[in-house]
Amino acid sequence: MDQIPSTAGPLTVADLGRTLVHEHVLTAHEGVRFQWPHLVDRDAELAAAVKQVTAAQAHGVTAMCDPAVLDLARDAAFSLAVTEATGLPIVMATGVYGQHYTFLPHYFQTREIDALVDCFVHDLEVGIQGTEVRAAFLKCAADEPGMTDDVEKVHRAVAQASLRTGAPVMAHSHPVSRTGLESMRIFTEEGVDPAKVLIAHTGDTDDLDYIEELLATGCTIGMDRYGLDIYLPEPQRNATVIALCERGHSGRMVIGQDHCATIDWFPADVVKAMAPNWSFTHIFETVFPALVDGGVTEQQLEDMIGANVRRWLAA
Ligand SMILES: [Zn+2]
Repeated sequence: MDQIPSTAGPLTVADLGRTLVHEHVLTAHEGVRFQWPHLVDRDAELAAAVKQVTAAQAHGVTAMCDPAVLDLARDAAFSLAVTEATGLPIVMATGVYGQHYTFLPHYFQTREIDALVDCFVHDLEVGIQGTEVRAAFLKCAADEPGMTDDVEKVHRAVAQASLRTGAPVMAHSHPVSRTGLESMRIFTEEGVDPAKVLIAHTGDTDDLDYIEELLATGCTIGMDRYGLDIYLPEPQRNATVIALCERGHSGRMVIGQDHCATIDWFPADVVKAMAPNWSFTHIFETVFPALVDGGVTEQQLEDMIGANVRRWLAA
C-alpha cells in the first residue's frame, strides 16, 4: 500500500514521518458504554486524548497508529474528533481483541470464518462505522490463554483478510507464553508474507533467545509498552533494545508505549499508581536518552519510530 488511510484522509507513506505505532486515544469496553452511557464523559475523554496527542506533536510526532478494534471500543467518530482538534492523522485498524483473550462473541462463534473476514474487508475497503475512514491494518491478539479455538479463528480470518486486501497485520502477543511464534505459525500457514506482520509487545520480555526465534520468522517486533513496568521494568526493556541493536536488529524493531489516553479497565487512580510514567511522550522524555547512553544511535531511534513503521505499514 503506498496510500495509507487515516482520519485525515489517505497519506502517502512519506507523509507519516515520526509515527507512534501503538497508542490508543481511547480504550474501553463497548458493551459497558452501550448499556450505561451515563458512565461515559465524552468531553473528558476527548480532552484527555487531545492533551496526550498535543504533547506528542511537540516531540515531532506527525502520525499515530491506534490498534483499537472489537472489544476495545474502537470509535471512528471519536478518532475523527481527536484529529479535528489536533490535526494529527490517526491510522485505524480492524480486527478482534477477544473477550479475555479467549472468546469471540456468539455472533462470530456460530458463523463461518468468512463472516469475520467480510467484516474486516468491509472496514479496509469501505470504511469504519459508516465513516469514510478506512482501516489500514488488521489486529488480533493471543495472550496467556494461548491459541484457543476462537483466537485461532480470528488469526486465520485476519490472515485471509490480509491476503484479500494486502493490509498489514499487528498481533498482540504475550511473550512469556511465546504466543508470537504461534501467531506467526498460523499467518505463515495461511500464506501471509511475514514482512507484513508486526508482533506487538515483544518488548515485554528480555528473553533474547525467544526474540531471536521470532525475528527468524521474518516479522517486525514491537518494543511498544514503555511505561508499563508491571509487564517488564524499564531497565530490562532498555537492555533488550540495546542488545538487539548490537546484534544488528535495529531495522526490525518499532518502539512505543501502548498508552491509553483513557482506559476504563481500572479506576483512574489505580492506573496512575500502576503506571505513573505512562504517556504518549515517555519514550521521548526518558527512554530515548537512556538508549542513546546505552549506545543506540539517534538514527536507529528515528528508524524505530519512522522507517521501520513505514516499512511494516506499506509492506
Ligand atoms: Zn494496545
